Amino acid sequence: MSNLTGLPPRQKPQKPPPAGGHMAWVKTLPCCVCGRAGPSDAHHVIHDRYGARRASDWEVVPLCREHHLGGTSAIHTGKETWREYHGPDWSYLPAVLELAGLSHMLAVVGRDADGKPLR
Ligand SMILES: [Zn+2]
Ligand SMILES: [Zn+2]
Repeated sequence: MSNLTGLPPRQKPQKPPPAGGHMAWVKTLPCCVCGRAGPSDAHHVIHDRYGARRASDWEVVPLCREHHLGGTSAIHTGKETWREYHGPDWSYLPAVLELAGLSHMLAVVGRDADGKPLR
């Protein structure tokens, strides 16, 4: 056997971090609508969902309670009203993934560069 100690350790191929970690990180961000400081909720984007497809844990954007679940301006109270004010929720996705250094995940989850689902 030859001496291999001078060699660098074998590198594992780069893989994206598990989505659970991504979701935890998204919760630390300010609300993408109003900029209220985190912790935020990680909201799975719901606009323009085709069929029964559910957003993956990569398709989350940070929202404060008011813009997410609580009160009249919450997306889960009235998603079409929310859209009139703030645009589609997926339009915030590219910035979140870019911040994470994960822009390539847009294509992986079937979205274009604007975050729009490709169907
Ligand atoms: Zn907000
Ligand atoms: Zn939500």
